[in-house]
Amino acid sequence: MNQCVEKSHAEFRRAWLLVLMPALLAAGGCTDRSPADSSVGQSPGVSTSSSTIVCTTGMVADIVGQVAGSRADITALMGEGVDPHLYVPTRSDIVRLRDADVIFYNGLFLEGQMQETFKKLASSGKPVFAVTADIPPGDLRAPPGFKGHPDPHVWNDVALWGRTVEAVAARLAEHDPGHADEYRANAAAFRDQLDALDAYARQAIASIPASQRYLVTAHDAFGYFGRAYRISVESVQGITTESEPGVDDINRLVDLLVTKQIPAIFVESSVSEANLQAVMYGAQSRGWTVTNGGMLFSDAMGRAGTYEGTYLGMIDHNVTTIARALGGEVPQRGMNGRLAVGGD
Ligand SMILES: [Zn+2]
Repeated sequence: MNQCVEKSHAEFRRAWLLVLMPALLAAGGCTDRSPADSSVGQSPGVSTSSSTIVCTTGMVADIVGQVAGSRADITALMGEGVDPHLYVPTRSDIVRLRDADVIFYNGLFLEGQMQETFKKLASSGKPVFAVTADIPPGDLRAPPGFKGHPDPHVWNDVALWGRTVEAVAARLAEHDPGHADEYRANAAAFRDQLDALDAYARQAIASIPASQRYLVTAHDAFGYFGRAYRISVESVQGITTESEPGVDDINRLVDLLVTKQIPAIFVESSVSEANLQAVMYGAQSRGWTVTNGGMLFSDAMGRAGTYEGTYLGMIDHNVTTIARALGGEVPQRGMNGRLAVGGD
């Protein structure tokens, strides 16, 4: 996918939307569906839902679904392979957001093109919550170069992401006090699964030989992952995909790969591969062959309806793929034996 084309398209949509959004928020009435959307809630036939909840990313929708259980119909606006940094809401997204009972988003400026939308919806009285809002600032990464904002890729540290589960339970309990105990119980049960996933990630990454514990990716989505699981992280692009890398960025990574003899680098499902291919060619020209270690789900989960299309499956896939490509010891099909064969 050509990122320049994608970006200019996103900018075009943004400009268009800024003109139309006030009218859409006031009147609505559009019914076209975004190709990216995916429903993750209960099917209408079995749901006893009383709320309609709209979320931005699949990761946010997954935790909200775990906590809400059958009490809500939940939709994620951004599906497989969608880059949240560049995502501009469609007209039908705006209608869905306006019609939702509750809205959850990641926050920390992950959804960089949706800030005005959230602000307008909140000022109209809509319950709009960032799931990361309760994380103490001291626990967030603050890398240079993201306009002074903290790193938004919190889901890549499973324990840290677990705190958003409590935040979602608290917000749902406020919205629907009659079922507060159920939301808290669902949150606690899901936290147990996250604890097991966190332990698997620690063990898997620790099995990589120390000299090869370098995670090289397309953009800087894995800073929390590296901090939590003790692996050095390097990327071609920065925290957001909105700026293109320069030759210096490419050369810096080629130097690292060649001097450390790192065997593999990783592409991302939501980011162009072109920059990583330049890095691989650069290393090759200096006599060091780097393999493509596999595709990682950095900012979007896998296809809806698959194991990789859940938060647990997304992280299991990433951890297993990284550990295997860098010489670690992991089960062929991941911690639950549910990964697609070959891990991709
Ligand atoms: Zn990102």
